[in-house]
Amino acid sequence: MSLPERKTDIGPPHYEQFLPPVIKNNYGKWKYHEVLSPGTMVHVAESGDEIYTVRVGSPRLLSTSSIREICDLAEKYCDGYLRFTTRNNIEFLVSDKSKVDPLVAELKEKKYSVGGIGPRVSNIIHTQGWVHCHSACTDASGIVKAIMDELYEYFTEKTLPNKVRIAVACCVNMCGAVHCSDIAVVAVHRKVPVVDDENVAKMCEIPTTVASCPTSAIRPNPKTKSITINEEKCMYCGNCFTVCPPIQIHNPEEDGVAIVVGGKIGSLRTSPKFSKLAIPFFYNDPPRWPKVVDAIKNILNVYAANARKHERVGEWVERVGWEEFFKLTGIEFTFQHIDDFTFMRDTLRTSAAFKF
Ligand code: SF4
Ligand code: SF4
Repeated sequence: MSLPERKTDIGPPHYEQFLPPVIKNNYGKWKYHEVLSPGTMVHVAESGDEIYTVRVGSPRLLSTSSIREICDLAEKYCDGYLRFTTRNNIEFLVSDKSKVDPLVAELKEKKYSVGGIGPRVSNIIHTQGWVHCHSACTDASGIVKAIMDELYEYFTEKTLPNKVRIAVACCVNMCGAVHCSDIAVVAVHRKVPVVDDENVAKMCEIPTTVASCPTSAIRPNPKTKSITINEEKCMYCGNCFTVCPPIQIHNPEEDGVAIVVGGKIGSLRTSPKFSKLAIPFFYNDPPRWPKVVDAIKNILNVYAANARKHERVGEWVERVGWEEFFKLTGIEFTFQHIDDFTFMRDTLRTSAAFKF
């Protein structure tokens, strides 16, 4: 007797079951795609079949009522087929051309921002920030809102030399795609964690805590039944805090953000690139982070004015040279740039595999 098929929640279901029929029928047989407007595009298959994409921005941290509304719109216009891109744009996948305009009209009426396709800024991918994550050294939603309010027209209408992907990560764990974005904000702790010996002894497993440090800066301290941190080796990553909360890494007076530029994931024209340090530090300045917003606007405007058509930010910087980048943007070149990331110490030490 065969057992009934067992359903578990282990692992994601196979993506194929969520593909719209037109994509299933033409899988791997697409001829071209075309951007029709800042928020719509069409993919045309060799068979002549078409699928239209309508893209809107999302605040990423969504309420259930927003998700229900988005699903209702997808049911109404595209048989329920929608997807979230890696940068948390919401894309409605419409097989019936006659439903594209009514969908766009209803989205606009409901105050969704339609755009982000083509040579523009798309949704800013970001991490949890103060809202949710224990490691955060800055906010994420707040800083993204402040940036996007200023760059909104680059999402909805204005064009740039090529697409510009912006990201925010609220600590150097970088749950956002900061290391491979054209312009990115990465939050940094800058002080060695403070160890509360009494609570470490009560609350933490010492071997796990020692093992959590990528630079081997932590050693057991048998006298106090706690640990000690070798300050010279610490790169302020906060891993130890994650496994042992009495090792306090937060410092509201000293935490803040750095700005990195020039990363990309795509391999079109040039290989994928890692982002590099542009501005080493800004203090957190909520609720609107004016200095961070101005710095990003400045980099974007200089790129828009100087890059050739189709050049990504990193490609433009590499063509003109980093010296020219600092000259054109007016960003001060400091000693921190030499080692790439001052508050992480030198570049090699940013690798989890690095050992002294
Ligand atoms: S980037 Fe850091 S602080 Fe932000 S969500 Fe990820 S682990 Fe948490
Ligand atoms: S902050 Fe990072 S480098 Fe410093 S002691 Fe903790 S785990 Fe090690």
